[in-house]
Amino acid sequence: MVKDKKNNIKDICDCKYIFVVGGVISGVGKGVAASSIGKILSDRGKRVTSMKIDPYINIDAGTMNPTEHGEVFVLDDGDETDQDMGNYERFIGTDLSHINYMTTGRVYQSVIERERNLSYGGACVQVVPHIPLEVIRRIEKARDNAKADVVIIEIGGTVGEYENILFLEAARMMKIKNPKSVFFVMVSYLPIPSKVGEMKTKPTQHAVRTLNASGIQPDIIIARSNLPLDDKRKEKLSMFCNISQDRVISAPDVDSIYDIPLNFEKEGLSDIICETMGMTCDIMPSPSFIDWTKFAKSAHTAKKELKIAVVGKYFATGDFTLSDSYLSVIEAIKYSCYKEGRKPVLTWISSTDFEKNPKSVKILKDYDGVIVPGGFGSRGIEGILMAIKYVRENNIPYLGLCYGMQLMIIEYARNVLKISDAHTLEINSKSKNLVITIMEEQKEKIENKKMGGSMRLGAYPAIVKKGTVAYKAYGKEEISERHRHRYEVNPLYVDRLEKAGLVFSAKSKDGVLCEIAELPFSKHPFFLGSQFHPEFKAQPLKPHPLFSAFVKACVKLDK
Ligand code: GLN
Repeated sequence: MVKDKKNNIKDICDCKYIFVVGGVISGVGKGVAASSIGKILSDRGKRVTSMKIDPYINIDAGTMNPTEHGEVFVLDDGDETDQDMGNYERFIGTDLSHINYMTTGRVYQSVIERERNLSYGGACVQVVPHIPLEVIRRIEKARDNAKADVVIIEIGGTVGEYENILFLEAARMMKIKNPKSVFFVMVSYLPIPSKVGEMKTKPTQHAVRTLNASGIQPDIIIARSNLPLDDKRKEKLSMFCNISQDRVISAPDVDSIYDIPLNFEKEGLSDIICETMGMTCDIMPSPSFIDWTKFAKSAHTAKKELKIAVVGKYFATGDFTLSDSYLSVIEAIKYSCYKEGRKPVLTWISSTDFEKNPKSVKILKDYDGVIVPGGFGSRGIEGILMAIKYVRENNIPYLGLCYGMQLMIIEYARNVLKISDAHTLEINSKSKNLVITIMEEQKEKIENKKMGGSMRLGAYPAIVKKGTVAYKAYGKEEISERHRHRYEVNPLYVDRLEKAGLVFSAKSKDGVLCEIAELPFSKHPFFLGSQFHPEFKAQPLKPHPLFSAFVKACVKLDK
């Protein structure tokens, strides 16, 4: 028994742990499955917290290339994490912290630090058990931090990889200590080879055997495939994976990931979990599950299209990687569109095309709105500036996110203030007119090559000016939004930009840093950029005010 901060006695052994592991191949929706399990359990009255284990040595996801690893999702506390953390927050409707995210790098770093502090009291510090014990310590910390009834832990990668063996070992050790409170979910994949035309169970059988070799038996198998599983496949998996048939959950491809909690419930998943671990749960459908059902339905009932162009420096990346790199932006647009009864259709436009053929920027008139998302570096920047000029001059709604806001300032300075060499220090240190410059505290970090986790990261408050487009969207003065940047609007140019009509409608609390720039409605239907990333705070049942204001402006012009 332990006492929590409010002095309530809480039996920590009551907590349940659900490990989610992958079989066969990655990229089949393990994160969404873990999020959906969290969703249905929280709908059943459980206090759920979710964790992601990334087997990389990187300390955080901030140093990884998003086109290879997916979006870097930033938490309130500034941790740069895996995109799945965004899924957990959105599905469960909660804010997570660095405590909920671990990488191999973090685990080893802690163990080595403790060894140097003599915290192991002279013991020989070994990979086993000390690494799994550190993993367990972190899981327990996340449990205590959230006062969770259930901790869901997604282990990155697929079983059989060297990288995740020690995490599986930690899970096994937890199970042996507390058999009734640890539950294993394997998210596997059943291919249907085109020439064979039949759904194959063998790869999943092998994956389960591999997991068995780590001393772990799955309690359920979530069987991902193009199509639903028939009884024969369920029978086979049951027989050869040592699991009853009702514990093979069919998870066919879906048009909307938001249907997955509903599909899991149809298969009786939360009942299986609650019964296996002896949890008493609220009866379904609970009010929050009903709300979610309505939201999930809105993804299907929204029929009229809203055409949005996302302009960036894309090259040599397929749509698949692009949609992963901008996952939160895409989801944020969906929530606001569904609320308006619209179906968003996103087109990725490579700004380098505009550089090659400046006249082609005119294609933007075919869109209801344009977004320029966050980014780094110089590639495609001139093309983005052409796009911003075009939408500003042609009254096409524009939303700029972080870099998209900085570039909006450069465009305005160049074409309205006629400062032809206006630029950002990130690209051109020789420009005499750096309208975007480095934040003071960043200078030393860059000089000393302290690049990891050193940007201005996470949630900071800002004050929104009354009577502005931003104020109309938020309906309040104080906001808190998540950031990830090194550069900022140069305060030396703020007066000139404002005199030329641009409005800085939100600033940091000390009034120094420009957080939102916009043109008033009298000048443009919607032309707004934020230094922060509103997409990280958008949630299915709570669409983000700025995305909603942008979408409303697009809808208004599309009538
Ligand atoms: N590259 C810009 C900066 O560091 C913008 C970053 C971003 O878009 N996240 O300030």
